[in-house]
Amino acid sequence: LFVDHPLGEAQSVPVSRDHANYLFNVMRLGVGAEVALFNGVDGEWRAEVAAKGKRGGVLVCTEQTAALQMPPDVWLLFAPIKKARTDFIVEKAAELGAARICPVRTARTNSERVRQDKLQAHAMEAAEQCGGTFVPPVDEIVSLEALLDRWDASRALVFADEAAVGPSSLSPLAGRTVLAAAPPPAAILIGPEGGFSDAERARLHAMQNVHVVSLGPRILRADTAAVSALTLWQAAVGD
Ligand code: SAM
Repeated sequence: LFVDHPLGEAQSVPVSRDHANYLFNVMRLGVGAEVALFNGVDGEWRAEVAAKGKRGGVLVCTEQTAALQMPPDVWLLFAPIKKARTDFIVEKAAELGAARICPVRTARTNSERVRQDKLQAHAMEAAEQCGGTFVPPVDEIVSLEALLDRWDASRALVFADEAAVGPSSLSPLAGRTVLAAAPPPAAILIGPEGGFSDAERARLHAMQNVHVVSLGPRILRADTAAVSALTLWQAAVGD
């Protein structure tokens, strides 16, 4: 269970109304029952139900069961698309071990408003679901231009471009060799449904430590591209 509260030896943790409903009505836990807690910072803790009520309760931490497991340092930069698919990208990025998730507005991004708080909640639920102890931060949307203006070139930028040519365009396996040249710290950039503009492509190609990668001969939807690029990067240089 994810809680927005410090965890530690004998630490009391208040139970929110939503969690009270889940723990005490759905799961039917009584006083003394055990719950696994994480907050994205202090690892995983075993806790006991010390008090329960209709609208809340108290859990008390008893022992740490796992240390915080930081994922390899790879960020996912992606242009938001339709809401359901954007939610999917954030959920899968958290499952696949992205260390940070950054929505970027590109020239051809035409999604509606992006709710950072909702996306952060999706990342938290995904981490909870897959047993992670770390929740990747989700940034407020930023323009690609502004992001590149302040980019630190010591972070490798893997630019997934359906227009990529050369050996890496042959297959995802060839793409792996490109990804091997982009060890952590790294970031993967995925474009919107309309792809990147010529000006964006030219700017990215002119930057230092940018690795243009093809994910194969087929044009993938942006959500598929995000999942496959992260998977391939983790296989090549992540964990
Ligand atoms: N509208 C564009 C077109 O038809 O050329 C396709 C854009 S694609 C749906 C969205 C994004 O997914 C791209 O900007 C790119 O980042 C990524 N992508 C899709 N297929 C890819 C591939 N085969 N190799 C590399 N990146 C790919």
